[in-house]
Amino acid sequence: MCGITGYIGHKDAAPILLKSLKRMEYRGYDSAGISTIHKDKIIIKKDIGRIDSINEKIQLGEAEGKIGVAHTRWATHGGVTKENAHPHLSCNKEVILVHNGIIENYRKLLKGLSNNHNFQSQTDSEVISHLIEEEYNKLKDPIKTLQNISKKLNGSFALIVIFSDRANEIYGVRKYAPLIVGIGENENFISSDIVSFIDYTDNVIFLEDKEIVKVTQNSIEILNFDGDKITRDKTHVAWEAADISKEEFSHHTIKEIHEQSSTVKTALNQDKEEFEKFVNELLSGKNIFITGSGSSFHIALIFKKMLTKFVKSQVQAFLSSESEEYRELMDENSILIPISQSGETADLHEVIRNLKDKGVTILSIYNTIGSSLSRVSDISLNLNCGPEIGVAATKSFTSQLAIVYKIIFELGKVKDGNEKIEELSEQIKEIISNEKSLHEIIELLNESNDVYFLGRSIHHPIALEGALKLKELAYIHAEGMAAGEIKHGTLALVEEGTPAIIINPKDESYEDTMNNAIEMKARGAKIIGISVEDNEAYDYWIKIPKVDNILYPLIELIPLQLLAYYTAIRRKNNPDYPRNLAKSVTVK
Ligand code: GLU
Repeated sequence: MCGITGYIGHKDAAPILLKSLKRMEYRGYDSAGISTIHKDKIIIKKDIGRIDSINEKIQLGEAEGKIGVAHTRWATHGGVTKENAHPHLSCNKEVILVHNGIIENYRKLLKGLSNNHNFQSQTDSEVISHLIEEEYNKLKDPIKTLQNISKKLNGSFALIVIFSDRANEIYGVRKYAPLIVGIGENENFISSDIVSFIDYTDNVIFLEDKEIVKVTQNSIEILNFDGDKITRDKTHVAWEAADISKEEFSHHTIKEIHEQSSTVKTALNQDKEEFEKFVNELLSGKNIFITGSGSSFHIALIFKKMLTKFVKSQVQAFLSSESEEYRELMDENSILIPISQSGETADLHEVIRNLKDKGVTILSIYNTIGSSLSRVSDISLNLNCGPEIGVAATKSFTSQLAIVYKIIFELGKVKDGNEKIEELSEQIKEIISNEKSLHEIIELLNESNDVYFLGRSIHHPIALEGALKLKELAYIHAEGMAAGEIKHGTLALVEEGTPAIIINPKDESYEDTMNNAIEMKARGAKIIGISVEDNEAYDYWIKIPKVDNILYPLIELIPLQLLAYYTAIRRKNNPDYPRNLAKSVTVK
C-alpha cells in the first residue's frame, strides 16, 4: 500500500527519491520521509501529510548524499505522527530502515530485545531496525544479519536497509510484499513499485519471496534466506514514463476513464497460445473458483454468471478476504481464477498460499507487469491497459471485463467477438462526450447522504461497482443491490428525494427491474434510469446506446464512473487520492 524506494549511484539521491515518492503517491499514504548519507552524516527528513506540503516545509529533496532510502507510509501500527513516519534508525544510528507491510509478532520480538534499546516510535517497523542492530553488532555481516532477522519476522514485509558504516551498499529483503531492482547506468534503484524509477530505467529484476538483495552502484547480488546465491535475468518492462503522466487531463482518474475507449481493445491482444490454454482449462471439467477484492470481485461475479452457461462444472465466486470454506472445497480437480489489477493484493495471495500443495490450477488475470500474481500462476492473462494511477479502478475494470467477454465469445464460438468489443470503443467515447448531460444528476447526488444502485442479473455486479465508485470518489454512502431485494428491507430507508440509480438497459430483466424502480418511486425515490429508452418512471434518464445484451455491463458502467468522478469534483475531493484508501492493498 505504501511505497519504499532506494537509490545508489553517482547523482544526488534526495531529488531522485523525492520524484520517486511523487510517482508512488497513487498507492495511498499518510506520511513520508527520506534519509540520505553524506560524508558519514545521516540526514533524515520526515513528516505527516502530502509530499508537496512536507517538501515545502522541510525540503525533502535537498539533502546531500549519493545513497538514500525513502518511504510513503500507510499506517498500520501506531498513529499517523511524525515519529511513526519512516525511515527508522536503530539506537546507535547504524541501521536506516524503511518497511512496507506488517510484522505480526513485533510485540514478542520487542520483549526479546535487550533492555537498553530506545524506541522513537510506536510502529512495528522500528523493532526491525533494533533487531538488525543487535545482530549486526554480533556478526558484522549484513547478509547473514538480514537472513537471521528475516527468519524471525512473521507477517509480510519488504525492507530496504542501509548500514551507515557501509554507505556504498543498499540491501533489500522481500517476503510477501513486492520489491524490484531497477538497473541503471552507474546507478541502481530498488523499490516496491516500478513507476518510482521508470523515469530512469525500464530494466528490472523482480525479487521473489524470501530473498535478499545487495545493491551497489554497479552490482546486484541476490541470495535466498538460506544464503544460496540466485541468478536471475533482468526483464525489460514495456511501460514508459509517459504512461503515468496526466497529459492534458486534470486528474489521472478522468484520463483513465477516457483511455477506456482504447484499453478495451488492447485487452484483446492476448498471446494466442496462452489464451487457448486458459480457455481449454475452463473446459476441462474441473470445478472453477473465481476470486478478487473490491472491483475485481465484481468482475468475478459477472464472470461467474456468464461462465456458468458454458462449462459443465461448478463455478463459484468469492471475496478473497472470505475464502475459508472455498479453500476447503478446492483440490487437484479445481481451477482458481484470481483477478487483481496490482497482482499484489494480500488477501488474494493469502488464498493462493493456503492452497499450496493441493494441486489447484491457477489461471490469473492481472495488470501490473511482473507482479507476484503472474509469477505464482500456471497461466496468466495481462490486461494490457498500462499503469492505472487513480486509486479507484476504472480502465482496469473494463479491461478485465473485455477479457471476460473474449473468453465467453471463445467458449460460445462467437466469430465476430473481437469486432463487437471494438465497436464498443466508439460508444464509450460518445458516452464520455455527453458528460454535460449529467449535470443535474450530479447536483442531486451532491446533496444526498445515501444513494441506491439497483440492477438484476449481469447488471447487479455493475450496481455494486457503481456504488463503490461513488463511495470511493465522492464520499457518499451508496449501496449496490440486486433490484429484486429492495422489498426485503431497503425500501424502509427510502424517503422523499432519495436517489435510486436503476441500471436497466433493455434485456430479459427489463420489466422486473422497471417494477422495482416503480416501487421505489412510489415511496418518494428520485429515479435515475440508465437505459436505451426513456420511461415515465424516470425522473432523469441517462441514455446508453443499444448493444448486444451481453455487452451492456461495459457500456452502462461508463456513466456511473463519470457520475462518481464529477460528483467528487463538485465536492472538491481529489478523485485520484481518495482519503484513507490505497491502490495496491498489500496488507490484510
Ligand atoms: N506497519 C508499518 C507502519 O505502520 C508499515 C506500514 C506501511 O506499509 O506503510 O509503519
